[in-house]
Amino acid sequence: MLVVMKPNATAAEVEAVTEKIRSLGLVPHAIPGAQRVAIGITGNKGALDPAMFEGMPGVRDAIRVSQPFKLVSREVKPEDTVVDVGGVLIGGRHLAVMAGPCSVESKGQILETAHAVKRAGATFLRGGAYKPRTSPYEFQGMAEEGLQLLALAREQTGLKIVTEAMDAETLALVAEYADVVQIGARNMQNFSLLKQLGRVQRPVLLKRGPCATIREWLMAAEYVVAHGNPRVVLCERGIRTFETATRNTLDLNAVPVLKSLTHLPVVVDPSHGIGLRGHVPAMARAAVAAGADGLIVEVHPNPDQALSDGQQSLTPGEFAAMMAQVKVIAGAVGRPF
Ligand code: PEP
Ligand code: MN
Repeated sequence: MLVVMKPNATAAEVEAVTEKIRSLGLVPHAIPGAQRVAIGITGNKGALDPAMFEGMPGVRDAIRVSQPFKLVSREVKPEDTVVDVGGVLIGGRHLAVMAGPCSVESKGQILETAHAVKRAGATFLRGGAYKPRTSPYEFQGMAEEGLQLLALAREQTGLKIVTEAMDAETLALVAEYADVVQIGARNMQNFSLLKQLGRVQRPVLLKRGPCATIREWLMAAEYVVAHGNPRVVLCERGIRTFETATRNTLDLNAVPVLKSLTHLPVVVDPSHGIGLRGHVPAMARAAVAAGADGLIVEVHPNPDQALSDGQQSLTPGEFAAMMAQVKVIAGAVGRPF
């Protein structure tokens, strides 16, 4: 349920509603908004009766939320959420571009990539230090040393860092270095990790599970928000289908569908989405045209030597050319950057 306060409701009236929710053994969530003050309610087992709140001073409306996801739904918060990452914004009119290697491999590799993507207009550096790999014999990442190299790249370039936390054991360490904590596709329904993310003081980039429906994905985001962290960014990275010509099938349908269902920002990863270097720029352009709030793109100074995902990584030159094209599309859809 959502309790919407009158525009002139006093702080004491808002507090009385919050207290009433608590006294019922339920959890109140303040929903920030430019137009109104609202309080979301979670923790109820069955439907709540709107009459319990409607008569209270300062209350305009008590509305049942029809979706199973509540706090992330547009019903509860009509305005777009803009996630502020230390002054760099994701969502609203801003187009966020995150770029960098799949894995941090060495000091030279990450610094060279960071400077190149910055020159091309990216505002975030991506790079994994803990890598979820299909085979246990493949490169698993540089762990804390990789995080330190990302911090060095941030120091030199001012780029914000996006890096993956793979498990609850290393989450606190990753969150110390990261500006945005990435949750990989394979962990999208790791519910204990999602609950822990609720307590982390960092924005979360929640990738879509390879076999997850949009609703399952939104429920995963709901876990993070319901446990206390409202700064969630969704990332479409392709789903598994019968198609074998591409690594995954980039589901751009998800962009407008999510935009109607949720207020959270939506970023697209064309690199994992199609998995083929030559086709990444086309899908990046399409994502921006479809209304994505940002892109996350794999870039490597020497893709053929990359320790992971070289086949889908752009060279710095290819990335710069892609950015020039993306800027034209972004301008056409009202998102100049
Ligand atoms: C990655 O970003 O390199 C990655 C492992 O992504 P995903 O979890 O989407 O496969
Ligand atoms: Mn990768």
